[in-house]
Amino acid sequence: MIKIAQPQIGQEEIEAVSAVLRSGQLASGEGVASFQKAFSEYLTQGFCVAASSGTTALEIALRALEIKEGDKIITTAFSFIATANVIVHAGGTPIFADIDETTMNISPESIEQILQEHEGVKAILIVHLFGQSCDMDQIQQIANRYQLLLIEDCAQAHGAEWKGRKLGTFGDASAFSFYPTKNMTTAEGGMVVLKDKQAAVFASQLIQHGIKERNQFEFIGYNYRLSEISAAIGLCQLKKLDRFNSVRRDHAALYDENIDNFYIIKPQEVLGARHVYNQYTLRILNGMRDAFIAHMEKEGVSTSIYYPYTIPEQDCYKATDLVEKDYNRRLGISNSIKKEVVSIPVHPGLTQVEIERIITAINRF
Ligand SMILES: *Cc1c(COP(=O)(O)O)cnc(C)c1O
Repeated sequence: MIKIAQPQIGQEEIEAVSAVLRSGQLASGEGVASFQKAFSEYLTQGFCVAASSGTTALEIALRALEIKEGDKIITTAFSFIATANVIVHAGGTPIFADIDETTMNISPESIEQILQEHEGVKAILIVHLFGQSCDMDQIQQIANRYQLLLIEDCAQAHGAEWKGRKLGTFGDASAFSFYPTKNMTTAEGGMVVLKDKQAAVFASQLIQHGIKERNQFEFIGYNYRLSEISAAIGLCQLKKLDRFNSVRRDHAALYDENIDNFYIIKPQEVLGARHVYNQYTLRILNGMRDAFIAHMEKEGVSTSIYYPYTIPEQDCYKATDLVEKDYNRRLGISNSIKKEVVSIPVHPGLTQVEIERIITAINRF
């Protein structure tokens, strides 16, 4: 079976982890500091603070921007649930926007519509879904015009760009995830990126119980630290990230060129975006998605649906006071696309033979 995701762990990672284990310093050492420094050098700007996961990184990003109880935050209805959960964890209220049909990223028009209807919106939390940038020209313009904070969820977009600039450098804050299915991994882990140095100092206190100096705690914080073991893996993976992404892009280019099926819409890299294909997500038309998945399974190819439900229709949101009663009125595109999407393997571990097998299987459908 060809897997949908496969972390790329080499001898370097194994040796780096062994060195940490032998050193006896498993947490709070130099490795985390080096990883933070290397990551901010990779992005070329911003102050980085490592965290225990993408989710905790995103929550810290919001808290470092002083999102407070009752703040309204516009986000996309079509993402992993963590994107919205962190808004609630930080005390805010999510307002769900629809997506653009081509990129499946949050729609600037839908953001505008919400801003016309709602007073007191504090921030926009965008997601660069599947590895492709949102339209940062339009989104930055809206954020400036309405004086909103901007937060980027870059959990699927390590190394992706908009007009030559790395994602994660546009927002007042951004967050990356290093879960094993992402473009680089630390097993579990995340990174907060902050534009403002003071906010980054605050974030680094927040992830360590609000510590000021040894044995002195300024405010009530969390333990959201990354381990030295994870940081050691992350340092190795970061060095390979550009290569991983270029292999993902090569695989995507082969799919772009060779998948040819009347009932299938392929993803599209839009002008200005450098897509890093965390997922290569197809749309299967005419209600044939289940049949497609069964066909691929028989052909020995695993597929996965990201995402079969919008966030506000999940039990934990639906019919709670966290979502507007008529939230669906705005989510026309999300509600049709969720029934069509299916992702196929695009990870860097695929061989040429496997790619050809996948293409043949799809064209036979
Ligand atoms: C993976 C992911 C997260 C959460 O990251 P974790 O490291 O799993 O906590 C958040 N948002 C998006 C869009 C993701 O894909």
